[in-house]
Amino acid sequence: MHEYSIVMSLMEQCEALAQLHKATRIEQVELKIGVLSGVEPALLSKAFETFKLDSVCHEARLVINVQPLVLQCNHCEQQSQVDERTIVCPICQSNKTTVIDGEDMMLMQLVMDT
Ligand SMILES: [Zn+2]
Repeated sequence: MHEYSIVMSLMEQCEALAQLHKATRIEQVELKIGVLSGVEPALLSKAFETFKLDSVCHEARLVINVQPLVLQCNHCEQQSQVDERTIVCPICQSNKTTVIDGEDMMLMQLVMDT
């Protein structure tokens, strides 16, 4: 499952950061998940709950912020946030747009206990 490998690399990232900051445990992990990232938040948090048990994150709470899609229109030059998976500018209906947010998954913040 896709989400399992994501969580495994997330755990590795957390372990490394905890070590770097000499933290004994992580209290909270905050993620940003773009709607176009292909990551399913429900599956991800389930995988997290499974994997965290034997990691530095075993008491951590997972906070997921879903990042909507943000388009920059190359036609009317407006930036808009859209709720659906589209590349059409909601203002002028042009499809000459660039996705500027909502495509990736990112670790936003770790709350650690040192
Ligand atoms: Zn436009």
